[in-house]
Amino acid sequence: MDGNFNENDISRVVEADRAHIWHHLSQHKPYETTDPRIIVEGKGMKVWDQKGKEHLDAVSGGVWTVNVGYGRERIANAVRDQLIKLNYFAGSAGSIPGAMFAERLIEKMPGLSRVYYCNSGSEANEKAFKMVRQIAHKRYGGKKHKVLYRDRDYHGTTITALSAGGQDERNAQYGPFTPGFVRVPHCLEYRAFEQEGAPRENYGVWAADQIEKVIIAEGPDTVGGLCLEPVTAGGGVITPPDGYWERVQEICKKYDILLHIDEVVCGVGRTGSWFGYQHYGIQPDMVTMAKGVASGYAAIACLVTNEKVFDMFKDDASDPLNYFRDISTFGGCTAGPAAALENLSIIEEEGLLDNTTEQGAYMLDCLGGLMDKHKTIGQVRGKGLFLGAELVEDRDTRKPVDEKLAQAVVADCMQQGVIIGVTNRSLPGKNNTLCFSPALIATKDDIDHICDAVDGAMGRVFG
Ligand code: PLP
Repeated sequence: MDGNFNENDISRVVEADRAHIWHHLSQHKPYETTDPRIIVEGKGMKVWDQKGKEHLDAVSGGVWTVNVGYGRERIANAVRDQLIKLNYFAGSAGSIPGAMFAERLIEKMPGLSRVYYCNSGSEANEKAFKMVRQIAHKRYGGKKHKVLYRDRDYHGTTITALSAGGQDERNAQYGPFTPGFVRVPHCLEYRAFEQEGAPRENYGVWAADQIEKVIIAEGPDTVGGLCLEPVTAGGGVITPPDGYWERVQEICKKYDILLHIDEVVCGVGRTGSWFGYQHYGIQPDMVTMAKGVASGYAAIACLVTNEKVFDMFKDDASDPLNYFRDISTFGGCTAGPAAALENLSIIEEEGLLDNTTEQGAYMLDCLGGLMDKHKTIGQVRGKGLFLGAELVEDRDTRKPVDEKLAQAVVADCMQQGVIIGVTNRSLPGKNNTLCFSPALIATKDDIDHICDAVDGAMGRVFG
Protein backbone atom coordinates (compact mmCIF):
# COMPACT_ATOMS: atom_id res chain seq x y z
CA MET A 1 0.00 0.00 0.00
CA ASP A 2 1.20 3.54 -0.55
CA GLY A 3 0.95 4.48 3.13
CA ASN A 4 -1.55 7.30 2.62
CA PHE A 5 -3.57 5.79 5.41
CA ASN A 6 -2.05 5.47 8.83
CA GLU A 7 -3.36 3.11 11.48
CA ASN A 8 -5.53 5.75 13.18
CA ASP A 9 -7.19 6.68 9.92
CA ILE A 10 -7.89 3.03 9.18
CA SER A 11 -9.46 2.32 12.57
CA ARG A 12 -11.70 5.36 12.02
CA VAL A 13 -12.74 3.95 8.63
CA VAL A 14 -13.46 0.56 10.17
CA GLU A 15 -15.64 2.15 12.86
CA ALA A 16 -17.50 4.27 10.30
CA ASP A 17 -18.06 1.18 8.20
CA ARG A 18 -19.25 -0.86 11.16
CA ALA A 19 -21.62 1.93 12.19
CA HIS A 20 -23.06 2.87 8.80
CA ILE A 21 -22.39 0.47 5.95
CA TRP A 22 -24.90 -2.14 4.95
CA HIS A 23 -22.66 -4.64 3.15
CA HIS A 24 -24.03 -6.50 0.13
CA LEU A 25 -24.98 -10.15 0.53
CA SER A 26 -23.77 -10.17 4.14
CA GLN A 27 -24.97 -11.15 7.57
CA HIS A 28 -23.97 -8.36 9.96
CA LYS A 29 -24.08 -10.07 13.33
CA PRO A 30 -20.45 -11.28 12.94
CA TYR A 31 -19.28 -7.66 12.57
CA GLU A 32 -20.17 -7.07 16.22
CA THR A 33 -17.12 -9.10 17.15
CA THR A 34 -14.96 -9.08 14.00
CA ASP A 35 -13.88 -6.25 11.74
CA PRO A 36 -15.59 -5.88 8.37
CA ARG A 37 -13.15 -6.36 5.50
CA ILE A 38 -12.24 -3.15 3.72
CA ILE A 39 -10.32 -3.25 0.48
CA VAL A 40 -8.03 -0.25 0.33
CA GLU A 41 -5.98 -0.59 -2.81
CA GLY A 42 -5.45 -2.69 -5.94
CA LYS A 43 -2.77 -3.18 -8.56
CA GLY A 44 -2.78 -5.73 -11.37
CA MET A 45 -4.13 -8.99 -9.92
CA LYS A 46 -3.69 -7.95 -6.28
CA VAL A 47 -5.62 -6.07 -3.64
CA TRP A 48 -4.66 -4.97 -0.14
CA ASP A 49 -7.01 -4.85 2.82
CA GLN A 50 -7.12 -2.47 5.79
CA LYS A 51 -4.51 -4.48 7.64
CA GLY A 52 -2.12 -4.16 4.73
CA LYS A 53 -2.55 -7.84 3.90
CA GLU A 54 -1.96 -8.66 0.24
CA HIS A 55 -4.46 -10.87 -1.60
CA LEU A 56 -4.25 -12.42 -5.03
CA ASP A 57 -7.72 -11.81 -6.44
CA ALA A 58 -8.93 -14.90 -8.31
CA VAL A 59 -12.45 -13.51 -8.78
CA SER A 60 -11.82 -10.10 -10.40
CA GLY A 61 -13.29 -7.90 -7.70
CA GLY A 62 -15.43 -10.64 -6.15
CA VAL A 63 -18.00 -10.80 -8.94
CA TRP A 64 -16.26 -11.30 -12.30
CA THR A 65 -15.78 -7.61 -12.98
CA VAL A 66 -12.22 -6.26 -13.09
CA ASN A 67 -11.29 -7.92 -16.38
CA VAL A 68 -8.21 -5.82 -17.15
CA GLY A 69 -6.93 -5.75 -13.55
CA TYR A 70 -6.54 -2.97 -11.00
CA GLY A 71 -4.70 0.33 -11.18
CA ARG A 72 -5.01 1.13 -14.89
CA GLU A 73 -4.00 4.77 -15.01
CA ARG A 74 -4.84 4.93 -18.67
CA ILE A 75 -8.52 4.30 -17.94
CA ALA A 76 -8.49 6.70 -15.00
CA ASN A 77 -6.96 9.42 -17.18
CA ALA A 78 -9.47 8.90 -19.98
CA VAL A 79 -12.33 9.16 -17.47
CA ARG A 80 -10.79 12.24 -15.87
CA ASP A 81 -10.36 14.01 -19.23
CA GLN A 82 -13.89 13.14 -20.25
CA LEU A 83 -15.39 14.33 -16.95
CA ILE A 84 -13.69 17.68 -17.31
CA LYS A 85 -14.96 18.01 -20.90
CA LEU A 86 -18.51 16.79 -20.26
CA ASN A 87 -19.61 14.60 -17.38
CA TYR A 88 -23.23 14.11 -18.25
CA PHE A 89 -26.13 14.75 -20.48
CA ALA A 90 -29.35 12.73 -20.62
CA GLY A 91 -29.33 9.79 -23.03
CA SER A 92 -31.96 11.37 -25.25
CA ALA A 93 -28.91 13.17 -26.67
CA GLY A 94 -25.73 11.46 -27.80
CA SER A 95 -22.17 11.89 -26.52
CA ILE A 96 -18.74 11.50 -28.09
CA PRO A 97 -17.58 8.53 -25.97
CA GLY A 98 -21.07 6.99 -26.22
CA ALA A 99 -21.01 6.99 -30.01
CA MET A 100 -17.34 5.97 -30.28
CA PHE A 101 -17.67 3.06 -27.86
CA ALA A 102 -20.88 1.87 -29.57
CA GLU A 103 -19.08 1.81 -32.91
CA ARG A 104 -16.15 -0.21 -31.52
CA LEU A 105 -18.49 -2.58 -29.69
CA ILE A 106 -20.67 -3.25 -32.71
CA GLU A 107 -17.55 -4.14 -34.74
CA LYS A 108 -17.16 -7.06 -32.34
CA MET A 109 -20.78 -8.16 -32.63
CA PRO A 110 -21.69 -8.97 -36.25
CA GLY A 111 -25.44 -8.99 -36.83
CA LEU A 112 -26.15 -6.50 -34.03
CA SER A 113 -26.35 -2.77 -34.50
CA ARG A 114 -27.89 -0.70 -31.66
CA VAL A 115 -26.58 0.10 -28.19
CA TYR A 116 -28.81 1.26 -25.33
CA TYR A 117 -26.85 2.54 -22.31
CA CYS A 118 -27.82 2.07 -18.69
CA ASN A 119 -26.23 1.31 -15.29
CA SER A 120 -26.32 -2.30 -14.27
CA GLY A 121 -26.81 -5.80 -15.55
CA SER A 122 -30.20 -6.02 -13.83
CA GLU A 123 -31.32 -2.84 -15.49
CA ALA A 124 -30.12 -3.90 -18.94
CA ASN A 125 -32.02 -7.17 -18.59
CA GLU A 126 -35.17 -5.37 -17.44
CA LYS A 127 -34.95 -3.18 -20.51
CA ALA A 128 -34.77 -6.23 -22.74
CA PHE A 129 -37.85 -7.64 -20.97
CA LYS A 130 -39.63 -4.32 -21.50
CA MET A 131 -38.81 -4.44 -25.19
CA VAL A 132 -40.34 -7.92 -25.47
CA ARG A 133 -43.47 -6.64 -23.73
CA GLN A 134 -43.76 -3.53 -25.86
CA ILE A 135 -43.29 -5.53 -29.06
CA ALA A 136 -46.03 -7.89 -27.83
CA HIS A 137 -48.39 -4.94 -27.42
CA LYS A 138 -47.43 -3.31 -30.70
CA ARG A 139 -47.53 -6.45 -32.82
CA TYR A 140 -49.55 -9.14 -31.08
CA GLY A 141 -52.29 -7.42 -29.07
CA GLY A 142 -50.26 -7.97 -25.89
CA LYS A 143 -50.40 -11.75 -26.19
CA LYS A 144 -46.83 -12.74 -27.10
CA HIS A 145 -45.36 -11.23 -23.94
CA LYS A 146 -43.94 -14.12 -21.90
CA VAL A 147 -40.23 -14.49 -21.32
CA LEU A 148 -38.68 -17.89 -20.71
CA TYR A 149 -35.67 -18.16 -18.39
CA ARG A 150 -33.68 -21.13 -17.22
CA ASP A 151 -33.31 -22.95 -13.94
CA ARG A 152 -29.98 -21.92 -12.26
CA ASP A 153 -29.51 -18.77 -14.40
CA TYR A 154 -29.51 -15.34 -12.78
CA HIS A 155 -30.39 -12.05 -14.46
CA GLY A 156 -30.32 -9.52 -11.68
CA THR A 157 -31.56 -8.27 -8.39
CA THR A 158 -34.67 -6.17 -9.05
CA ILE A 159 -38.06 -7.81 -8.56
CA THR A 160 -38.63 -8.31 -12.28
CA ALA A 161 -35.08 -9.54 -12.88
CA LEU A 162 -35.63 -11.96 -9.99
CA SER A 163 -38.88 -13.02 -11.65
CA ALA A 164 -36.61 -14.31 -14.41
CA GLY A 165 -34.24 -15.81 -11.85
CA GLY A 166 -33.54 -19.53 -11.70
CA GLN A 167 -31.77 -19.51 -8.32
CA ASP A 168 -34.42 -20.10 -5.71
CA GLU A 169 -32.34 -19.01 -2.74
CA ARG A 170 -32.05 -15.54 -4.21
CA ASN A 171 -35.81 -15.34 -4.71
CA ALA A 172 -36.94 -16.65 -1.32
CA GLN A 173 -38.93 -14.04 0.65
CA TYR A 174 -39.07 -11.52 -2.22
CA GLY A 175 -42.31 -12.59 -3.86
CA PRO A 176 -44.81 -11.95 -5.23
CA PHE A 177 -43.05 -11.70 -8.55
CA THR A 178 -43.84 -10.15 -11.91
CA PRO A 179 -46.12 -12.41 -13.95
CA GLY A 180 -45.22 -13.57 -17.44
CA PHE A 181 -41.90 -15.29 -16.68
CA VAL A 182 -41.69 -19.04 -17.17
CA ARG A 183 -38.87 -21.36 -16.17
CA VAL A 184 -37.23 -23.98 -18.40
CA PRO A 185 -34.92 -26.76 -17.15
CA HIS A 186 -31.16 -26.29 -16.70
CA CYS A 187 -28.57 -27.88 -19.00
CA LEU A 188 -25.94 -28.98 -16.47
CA GLU A 189 -24.97 -32.41 -17.83
CA TYR A 190 -23.18 -33.36 -14.60
CA ARG A 191 -26.56 -33.20 -12.84
CA ALA A 192 -28.63 -34.60 -15.73
CA PHE A 193 -29.23 -37.76 -13.70
CA GLU A 194 -31.45 -35.67 -11.41
CA GLN A 195 -33.65 -34.66 -14.38
CA GLU A 196 -36.47 -37.03 -15.26
CA GLY A 197 -36.08 -38.60 -18.69
CA ALA A 198 -32.64 -37.13 -19.43
CA PRO A 199 -30.74 -39.42 -21.82
CA ARG A 200 -27.07 -40.38 -21.61
CA GLU A 201 -26.54 -39.63 -25.31
CA ASN A 202 -27.31 -36.29 -26.97
CA TYR A 203 -28.10 -34.61 -23.67
CA GLY A 204 -27.63 -31.14 -25.18
CA VAL A 205 -30.36 -31.63 -27.76
CA TRP A 206 -32.65 -33.15 -25.12
CA ALA A 207 -32.05 -30.19 -22.77
CA ALA A 208 -32.90 -27.73 -25.56
CA ASP A 209 -35.96 -29.78 -26.49
CA GLN A 210 -37.26 -29.21 -22.95
CA ILE A 211 -37.48 -25.52 -23.86
CA GLU A 212 -39.66 -26.39 -26.83
CA LYS A 213 -41.91 -28.45 -24.57
CA VAL A 214 -42.44 -25.43 -22.32
CA ILE A 215 -43.18 -23.22 -25.34
CA ILE A 216 -45.80 -25.67 -26.57
CA ALA A 217 -47.34 -26.00 -23.10
CA GLU A 218 -47.53 -22.21 -22.67
CA GLY A 219 -48.72 -21.65 -26.25
CA PRO A 220 -46.16 -20.39 -28.80
CA ASP A 221 -48.29 -17.31 -29.47
CA THR A 222 -47.76 -16.23 -25.84
CA VAL A 223 -43.96 -16.51 -25.74
CA GLY A 224 -41.99 -13.49 -26.96
CA GLY A 225 -38.49 -13.95 -25.53
CA LEU A 226 -35.98 -16.47 -24.26
CA CYS A 227 -33.28 -15.16 -21.92
CA LEU A 228 -30.20 -17.33 -21.26
CA GLU A 229 -26.66 -16.99 -19.96
CA PRO A 230 -24.14 -18.33 -22.50
CA VAL A 231 -22.18 -19.98 -19.69
CA THR A 232 -24.17 -19.87 -16.47
CA ALA A 233 -22.24 -18.05 -13.76
CA GLY A 234 -23.64 -18.04 -10.21
CA GLY A 235 -25.75 -21.14 -10.88
CA GLY A 236 -22.64 -23.32 -10.97
CA VAL A 237 -20.38 -22.26 -13.89
CA ILE A 238 -22.36 -24.33 -16.37
CA THR A 239 -20.85 -24.78 -19.83
CA PRO A 240 -23.57 -25.75 -22.29
CA PRO A 241 -23.54 -29.35 -23.56
CA ASP A 242 -22.83 -30.15 -27.23
CA GLY A 243 -25.74 -29.55 -29.56
CA TYR A 244 -27.57 -27.31 -27.09
CA TRP A 245 -27.18 -23.90 -28.67
CA GLU A 246 -27.82 -25.00 -32.26
CA ARG A 247 -31.13 -26.47 -31.17
CA VAL A 248 -32.01 -23.40 -29.07
CA GLN A 249 -31.47 -21.19 -32.10
CA GLU A 250 -33.70 -23.42 -34.25
CA ILE A 251 -36.45 -23.35 -31.63
CA CYS A 252 -36.36 -19.54 -31.41
CA LYS A 253 -36.62 -19.26 -35.19
CA LYS A 254 -39.41 -21.80 -35.40
CA TYR A 255 -41.62 -19.98 -32.88
CA ASP A 256 -40.51 -16.42 -33.69
CA ILE A 257 -39.06 -15.89 -30.21
CA LEU A 258 -36.44 -13.22 -29.54
CA LEU A 259 -33.20 -14.73 -28.27
CA HIS A 260 -31.77 -12.60 -25.48
CA ILE A 261 -28.28 -13.57 -24.30
CA ASP A 262 -27.23 -12.29 -20.89
CA GLU A 263 -23.50 -11.58 -21.22
CA VAL A 264 -23.28 -9.64 -17.97
CA VAL A 265 -20.56 -12.02 -16.76
CA CYS A 266 -19.21 -13.58 -19.98
CA GLY A 267 -19.15 -10.36 -22.00
CA VAL A 268 -16.00 -8.54 -23.04
CA GLY A 269 -13.45 -11.28 -22.93
CA ARG A 270 -14.11 -13.41 -19.88
CA THR A 271 -14.40 -16.69 -21.83
CA GLY A 272 -11.64 -15.95 -24.36
CA SER A 273 -13.89 -14.52 -27.08
CA TRP A 274 -15.45 -11.06 -26.99
CA PHE A 275 -18.76 -12.62 -26.05
CA GLY A 276 -19.64 -16.04 -24.69
CA TYR A 277 -22.29 -16.72 -27.35
CA GLN A 278 -19.65 -16.36 -30.06
CA HIS A 279 -18.19 -19.77 -29.12
CA TYR A 280 -21.41 -21.42 -30.18
CA GLY A 281 -22.10 -19.89 -33.57
CA ILE A 282 -25.44 -18.42 -32.59
CA GLN A 283 -27.02 -15.13 -33.57
CA PRO A 284 -28.92 -13.43 -30.75
CA ASP A 285 -31.50 -10.65 -31.17
CA MET A 286 -30.57 -8.94 -27.90
CA VAL A 287 -27.43 -9.03 -25.78
CA THR A 288 -26.99 -7.50 -22.33
CA MET A 289 -23.62 -6.78 -20.71
CA ALA A 290 -22.25 -4.92 -17.71
CA LYS A 291 -19.46 -6.06 -15.40
CA GLY A 292 -16.44 -6.36 -17.69
CA VAL A 293 -17.53 -3.60 -20.09
CA ALA A 294 -15.43 -1.07 -18.19
CA SER A 295 -13.86 -3.51 -15.68
CA GLY A 296 -15.47 -1.59 -12.79
CA TYR A 297 -13.64 1.68 -13.54
CA ALA A 298 -17.04 3.28 -14.10
CA ALA A 299 -20.61 2.01 -13.94
CA ILE A 300 -21.90 1.09 -17.37
CA ALA A 301 -24.24 -1.49 -18.85
CA CYS A 302 -25.50 -1.95 -22.40
CA LEU A 303 -28.41 -3.60 -24.10
CA VAL A 304 -27.41 -4.30 -27.70
CA THR A 305 -30.03 -5.29 -30.27
CA ASN A 306 -30.20 -6.14 -33.93
CA GLU A 307 -31.90 -3.94 -36.50
CA LYS A 308 -34.97 -6.19 -36.55
CA VAL A 309 -35.73 -5.31 -32.92
CA PHE A 310 -34.84 -1.66 -33.41
CA ASP A 311 -37.04 -1.38 -36.49
CA MET A 312 -40.08 -2.54 -34.56
CA PHE A 313 -39.82 0.70 -32.59
CA LYS A 314 -39.48 3.09 -35.47
CA ASP A 315 -41.72 1.77 -38.22
CA ASP A 316 -44.68 4.09 -37.65
CA ALA A 317 -43.81 7.61 -36.52
CA SER A 318 -47.46 8.67 -36.61
CA ASP A 319 -48.11 6.50 -33.53
CA PRO A 320 -47.28 8.64 -30.45
CA LEU A 321 -46.40 5.48 -28.45
CA ASN A 322 -44.15 4.05 -31.11
CA TYR A 323 -40.76 4.38 -29.47
CA PHE A 324 -39.03 2.72 -26.55
CA ARG A 325 -40.42 4.83 -23.72
CA ASP A 326 -37.62 4.13 -21.36
CA ILE A 327 -34.89 6.19 -19.75
CA SER A 328 -31.97 5.59 -17.45
CA THR A 329 -30.71 8.81 -15.86
CA PHE A 330 -27.18 7.57 -15.39
CA GLY A 331 -27.21 5.93 -18.80
CA GLY A 332 -26.22 9.44 -19.88
CA CYS A 333 -22.99 9.49 -17.82
CA THR A 334 -19.99 9.80 -20.10
CA ALA A 335 -17.48 8.20 -17.68
CA GLY A 336 -18.85 4.74 -18.51
CA PRO A 337 -18.24 4.72 -22.29
CA ALA A 338 -14.97 6.65 -21.85
CA ALA A 339 -13.72 3.91 -19.52
CA ALA A 340 -15.17 1.19 -21.75
CA LEU A 341 -13.29 2.49 -24.79
CA GLU A 342 -9.95 2.30 -22.99
CA ASN A 343 -10.85 -1.08 -21.52
CA LEU A 344 -11.54 -2.44 -25.00
CA SER A 345 -8.29 -1.01 -26.38
CA ILE A 346 -6.31 -2.58 -23.54
CA ILE A 347 -7.84 -5.99 -24.26
CA GLU A 348 -6.93 -5.63 -27.94
CA GLU A 349 -3.45 -4.16 -27.54
CA GLU A 350 -2.36 -6.60 -24.83
CA GLY A 351 -3.83 -9.65 -26.61
CA LEU A 352 -5.95 -10.48 -23.58
CA LEU A 353 -8.42 -12.68 -25.45
CA ASP A 354 -5.59 -15.02 -26.46
CA ASN A 355 -4.16 -14.85 -22.96
CA THR A 356 -7.55 -15.78 -21.54
CA THR A 357 -7.83 -18.80 -23.82
CA GLU A 358 -4.29 -19.94 -23.06
CA GLN A 359 -4.31 -19.36 -19.31
CA GLY A 360 -7.88 -20.64 -19.05
CA ALA A 361 -6.83 -23.96 -20.61
CA TYR A 362 -3.85 -24.09 -18.25
CA MET A 363 -6.03 -23.39 -15.22
CA LEU A 364 -8.60 -26.00 -16.27
CA ASP A 365 -5.71 -28.47 -16.42
CA CYS A 366 -4.28 -27.45 -13.05
CA LEU A 367 -7.64 -27.64 -11.30
CA GLY A 368 -8.38 -30.91 -13.11
CA GLY A 369 -5.03 -32.21 -11.84
CA LEU A 370 -6.20 -31.64 -8.26
CA MET A 371 -8.93 -34.23 -8.81
CA ASP A 372 -6.40 -37.08 -8.44
CA LYS A 373 -5.58 -35.95 -4.94
CA HIS A 374 -8.92 -34.55 -3.78
CA LYS A 375 -11.79 -36.95 -4.31
CA THR A 376 -14.31 -34.32 -3.26
CA ILE A 377 -13.75 -32.48 -6.55
CA GLY A 378 -16.45 -34.04 -8.69
CA GLN A 379 -16.02 -31.99 -11.83
CA VAL A 380 -13.99 -29.05 -13.09
CA ARG A 381 -15.57 -27.03 -15.90
CA GLY A 382 -15.67 -23.64 -17.57
CA LYS A 383 -14.49 -21.61 -20.50
CA GLY A 384 -11.55 -19.21 -20.66
CA LEU A 385 -10.81 -17.64 -17.29
CA PHE A 386 -14.24 -18.51 -15.98
CA LEU A 387 -14.01 -21.82 -14.14
CA GLY A 388 -15.75 -23.84 -11.47
CA ALA A 389 -14.97 -26.92 -9.40
CA GLU A 390 -18.04 -28.74 -8.13
CA LEU A 391 -17.51 -30.43 -4.77
CA VAL A 392 -19.30 -33.69 -3.94
CA GLU A 393 -19.29 -36.04 -0.96
CA ASP A 394 -19.08 -39.00 -3.25
CA ARG A 395 -18.23 -39.16 -6.94
CA ASP A 396 -20.70 -41.99 -7.61
CA THR A 397 -23.75 -40.44 -6.00
CA ARG A 398 -22.61 -36.86 -6.74
CA LYS A 399 -24.18 -35.79 -3.46
CA PRO A 400 -23.14 -32.15 -2.94
CA VAL A 401 -20.86 -31.38 0.00
CA ASP A 402 -22.27 -29.41 2.89
CA GLU A 403 -22.07 -25.79 1.79
CA LYS A 404 -20.27 -24.89 5.03
CA LEU A 405 -17.36 -27.02 3.86
CA ALA A 406 -17.23 -25.25 0.49
CA GLN A 407 -17.21 -21.98 2.38
CA ALA A 408 -14.44 -23.30 4.62
CA VAL A 409 -12.30 -23.84 1.50
CA VAL A 410 -12.95 -20.24 0.47
CA ALA A 411 -12.08 -19.01 4.00
CA ASP A 412 -8.88 -21.06 4.08
CA CYS A 413 -7.79 -19.61 0.72
CA MET A 414 -8.52 -16.14 2.09
CA GLN A 415 -6.25 -16.88 5.06
CA GLN A 416 -3.56 -17.78 2.55
CA GLY A 417 -4.11 -14.47 0.75
CA VAL A 418 -6.02 -15.82 -2.25
CA ILE A 419 -9.60 -14.72 -2.90
CA ILE A 420 -11.79 -17.34 -4.58
CA GLY A 421 -15.59 -17.61 -4.73
CA VAL A 422 -18.37 -20.12 -4.25
CA THR A 423 -21.69 -20.21 -6.06
CA ASN A 424 -25.21 -20.21 -4.67
CA ARG A 425 -24.38 -18.93 -1.24
CA SER A 426 -27.32 -20.05 0.79
CA LEU A 427 -29.29 -22.84 -0.83
CA PRO A 428 -28.57 -26.12 0.94
CA GLY A 429 -27.23 -28.70 -1.48
CA LYS A 430 -26.25 -26.27 -4.20
CA ASN A 431 -23.61 -24.18 -2.54
CA ASN A 432 -20.89 -26.47 -3.73
CA THR A 433 -19.10 -25.03 -6.75
CA LEU A 434 -15.88 -23.14 -6.12
CA CYS A 435 -15.46 -20.44 -8.71
CA PHE A 436 -12.50 -18.76 -10.27
CA SER A 437 -12.39 -15.77 -12.58
CA PRO A 438 -8.99 -14.10 -12.37
CA ALA A 439 -8.39 -10.98 -14.42
CA LEU A 440 -7.63 -11.62 -18.10
CA ILE A 441 -4.01 -10.56 -17.46
CA ALA A 442 -3.37 -13.66 -15.29
CA THR A 443 -0.03 -15.40 -15.77
CA LYS A 444 0.91 -19.06 -15.24
CA ASP A 445 2.52 -18.04 -11.93
CA ASP A 446 -0.73 -16.47 -10.76
CA ILE A 447 -2.63 -19.61 -11.69
CA ASP A 448 -0.11 -21.87 -9.96
CA HIS A 449 -0.43 -19.69 -6.88
CA ILE A 450 -4.26 -19.97 -6.94
CA CYS A 451 -4.23 -23.74 -7.52
CA ASP A 452 -1.64 -24.28 -4.75
CA ALA A 453 -3.88 -22.36 -2.35
CA VAL A 454 -6.89 -24.49 -3.33
CA ASP A 455 -4.82 -27.65 -2.96
CA GLY A 456 -3.76 -26.66 0.56
CA ALA A 457 -7.26 -25.60 1.56
CA MET A 458 -8.85 -28.80 0.24
CA GLY A 459 -6.32 -30.84 2.21
CA ARG A 460 -7.07 -28.99 5.43
CA VAL A 461 -10.86 -28.99 5.03
CA PHE A 462 -11.41 -32.50 3.65
CA GLY A 463 -8.23 -34.28 4.74
N1 PLP B 1 -26.80 -11.25 -15.12
C1 PLP B 1 -25.86 -12.08 -14.65
C2 PLP B 1 -25.53 -13.32 -15.42
C3 PLP B 1 -25.20 -11.80 -13.44
O1 PLP B 1 -24.31 -12.67 -12.93
C4 PLP B 1 -25.54 -10.61 -12.75
C5 PLP B 1 -24.86 -10.26 -11.50
O2 PLP B 1 -24.09 -10.99 -10.94
C6 PLP B 1 -26.53 -9.78 -13.29
C7 PLP B 1 -27.13 -10.12 -14.48
C8 PLP B 1 -26.93 -8.52 -12.57
O3 PLP B 1 -25.98 -7.55 -12.75
P1 PLP B 1 -25.93 -6.26 -11.78
O4 PLP B 1 -25.47 -6.76 -10.45
O5 PLP B 1 -24.98 -5.35 -12.47
O6 PLP B 1 -27.30 -5.71 -11.72
